[in-house]
Amino acid sequence: MQKGQMLYEGKAKKIFRTDDENIYWVVYKDDATAFNGAKKGQVANKGLLNNKISSLFFKMLKKEGIDNHFIENISENEQLIKKVEIINVEVVVRNVATGSLVKRLGFTEGEELSEPIVEFYYKNDALNDPFINEDHIKILKLADPGQVQQMREQGLRVNTVLKRFMEQLGIILVDFKLEFGVDSEGKVLLADEISPDTCRFWDIKTQEKLDKDRFRQDLGGVEEAYQEILKRLEAKI
Ligand code: UDP
Repeated sequence: MQKGQMLYEGKAKKIFRTDDENIYWVVYKDDATAFNGAKKGQVANKGLLNNKISSLFFKMLKKEGIDNHFIENISENEQLIKKVEIINVEVVVRNVATGSLVKRLGFTEGEELSEPIVEFYYKNDALNDPFINEDHIKILKLADPGQVQQMREQGLRVNTVLKRFMEQLGIILVDFKLEFGVDSEGKVLLADEISPDTCRFWDIKTQEKLDKDRFRQDLGGVEEAYQEILKRLEAKI
């Protein structure tokens, strides 16, 4: 497989074409950003760690019957993925109240939700990724109602599988963000990445944060937290 022209450079990854038009080549970077790019930094080995963690999650989800864009790892910080047309909607699923649920809606920090909450955000840097609902998605033509239903259902299925899986590693899956794309057959396919950059993970015993909130909140030990997630995953898989 040959790496071709770069198609896109995002905050955490670069995407290249390959000699197969249906396959893209992803390079995971060590760059870290938060608050829509307002806070910038580098986390040593983040590219390598997120590439490995995300690949393990995607493989596990596939085994559990949740298809996704992951094909294979090609180096410590690179993977091949199936080409999809990304839907510009971020799907957030929450199990435990923190962040905006506390600030905006008055939930208690750390409160377990009686059932998961699914939220949609418009993936648009210029607008700061605003919160949107299904009507906005339809009128903005980001996705049709059937696709929204698919994203919601797949988001909840990922949540069920990932939450149970992380519990076995002694980790609470607080919340996470997913992205989906449309593949060449028109199917809504789970895409992007699943990693401590895109999930909140709390240690069950100590409640210690093992995710990007360590970077967002300047808590230190960011690399160590990501290493800990990988260590627990590798011990289980
Ligand atoms: N998230 C993400 N990328 C984003 C926004 C959110 O990966 O652009 C993840 C984040 O890591 C967390 C979840 O989605 O696990 C909810 O994040 P949000 O920013 O909505 O949190 P809150 O507003 O509640 O603090």
